[in-house]
Amino acid sequence: MSVSAPATLDREQRELLRARLRAIGFDEVHFAQAAPAGGAALRQWLDAHHHADMAWIERSAEKRGDVERVLAEARSVIVLGVNYWSGAAVDSRRRKGGAPAWARYAVHEDYHDTMKPGLIAAGKAVEEIAGLTGADYRCYTDTGPVLERGWAARAGLGFRGKNGMLISKIHGNWLFLATLVTRAVIEPDDPLRKHLHTGADEPAGLLCGKCTRCIDACPTSAILEPGKVDARRCISYQTIENKGVIPRKLRAGIGDRVYGCDICLEVCPWNRFAQEGRKLLLVARHDLAGVSLRDLLELTTEGYVTLFRRTAVKRLKLTGLLRNACVVAGNSGDRSLVPSLVRLVAHASPLVRAHAVWAVQRLAGAEAVDLLATTRAGETNEQVLTEYAEAEPRG
Ligand code: SF4
Ligand code: SF4
Repeated sequence: MSVSAPATLDREQRELLRARLRAIGFDEVHFAQAAPAGGAALRQWLDAHHHADMAWIERSAEKRGDVERVLAEARSVIVLGVNYWSGAAVDSRRRKGGAPAWARYAVHEDYHDTMKPGLIAAGKAVEEIAGLTGADYRCYTDTGPVLERGWAARAGLGFRGKNGMLISKIHGNWLFLATLVTRAVIEPDDPLRKHLHTGADEPAGLLCGKCTRCIDACPTSAILEPGKVDARRCISYQTIENKGVIPRKLRAGIGDRVYGCDICLEVCPWNRFAQEGRKLLLVARHDLAGVSLRDLLELTTEGYVTLFRRTAVKRLKLTGLLRNACVVAGNSGDRSLVPSLVRLVAHASPLVRAHAVWAVQRLAGAEAVDLLATTRAGETNEQVLTEYAEAEPRG
């Protein structure tokens, strides 16, 4: 592809662009020089199968390591951050009784959708200020083949913590990231440590010091070493990406987390600086945080569609959410949930039935044998039968 001489933004134009992007609603706007980055660490993580069955990461590994594979003759990466800290309103320690825990980001309309108009406007601003066309840049929000956290670190937006997340000195752990890869030459911002300009992979935990709170707090020991999370053990992966059975050995560690997990983010001391964001590109759904576990266990398809319309949770499907709700119920110690769970033991989905059996066994102990006798006699699915056979009454 032949590309004309790249547009170069002088410092004044760069700051004009930054101001325009901030006015659109991005709380952080940083610039990095395009260069191969992050590929070696990603390859290692993939080779160790820590990505579980997230095959799309494997498929896009080459592109993730080199933005020129995303956009030929890319010169700069614009990293955009949107602060989604909502303070105490969804604080997991202040939830109403009986309500399970949601990852903070999930109690919003799907940010991939709500940030889209902002990204389109950002692209138009780049076109106008750099004199480019729509063919000269690509925008991504989380789902693209771009290592957003790595670029954010290179662009000085923050650093990768030992929990593997991008940590901002201003916003803590609570930023949605987006990137705009462009052929415009833009003077880069300084990373927090200047050696990152050289293209070396950023060492995780650059500003963590001796802190290991996230590693210590992870209930499933998913953080194997600083910056390296084994998705197979991670509650976020298990409750969101895994479409099948949640391994029995991880269920107790899931606790009351029905969708995602923020534990290794919540404990991070860098959050002490977080302030509530402007949320110009977000739509909060704090009502979700007040939905009781019993209501979730009794959700109909219609109720599910209505409640989770426009949220990221809708991608999980009702069966996935019921599966998670069964695990949380099994961990709750609340025997009043048993009737709802016994109904789910007869659900049309074997996935739901399997987890409901486990939960009834956990809550009802020895009584579960009688409660489940009829459904067990009629069960033909192998996975569900395994749950009947393996479940251990709590006693
Ligand atoms: S998200 Fe939860 S399970 Fe995953 S690494 Fe963090 S604390 Fe562990
Ligand atoms: S909790 Fe501590 S070790 Fe973990 S990312 Fe935050 S500062 Fe780093």
